[in-house]
Amino acid sequence: MARYTEAKCKLCRREGMKLYLKGERCHSSSCAMDRRPYGPGEHGRRRGRKPSDYKLQLREKQKVRAIYGVLEKQFRLYFAEANRQTGATGENLFTILEKRLDSVLFRLGFAPSRSSARQLIRHQHVVVDGIVCDIPSRQVKVGETVAIRTKSHNIPQIVESVKDNAKRDRLPFVEADDKKLEGRLLVEPQLSDLPIPIQENLIVELYSK
Ligand code: SF4
Repeated sequence: MARYTEAKCKLCRREGMKLYLKGERCHSSSCAMDRRPYGPGEHGRRRGRKPSDYKLQLREKQKVRAIYGVLEKQFRLYFAEANRQTGATGENLFTILEKRLDSVLFRLGFAPSRSSARQLIRHQHVVVDGIVCDIPSRQVKVGETVAIRTKSHNIPQIVESVKDNAKRDRLPFVEADDKKLEGRLLVEPQLSDLPIPIQENLIVELYSK
């Protein structure tokens, strides 16, 4: 499975905002965006010219790809699928992204980050409606039960993540039981529910050229 393997904090610094890609570290004083809040590389501190429309669109798309850990080819396929569906393409795109199994596991609070969720899924620690699923991109349907396998309940990253749930509210489209380590999507996720500001219209404009 192809995936992005470069330093994650660079992605945040490039986009000029916290994208919360590293779990608890993102909420600590070790966060690179708190220590070095400028772009990565030799010219990171330089003030650029006013960005073109294209640059704004491109950066917004790259930001969203970084948040969900999706490569370009897969992202284009998601956009095409969102475009085929009825309703607003931008809204549809985020519903598709949020319904990926790795994203649902992260939103349930059973993994500290999406990359960690992906690893847990790949290592067969996750079941959907009682059946082991090792495909992070699997689309979860509303009402399906996503759970950690009983034999995997003591994995440190799961235990730590669940501990941290007490400090944070879950998003309104999921419900979870931290004792049983299971939860579900209650409704289709909406863009307005997401905690990071996203201008989906820029992505639609970029791909509609
Ligand atoms: Fe981004 Fe988290 Fe790194 Fe901070 S610690 S720069 S939020 S990935």
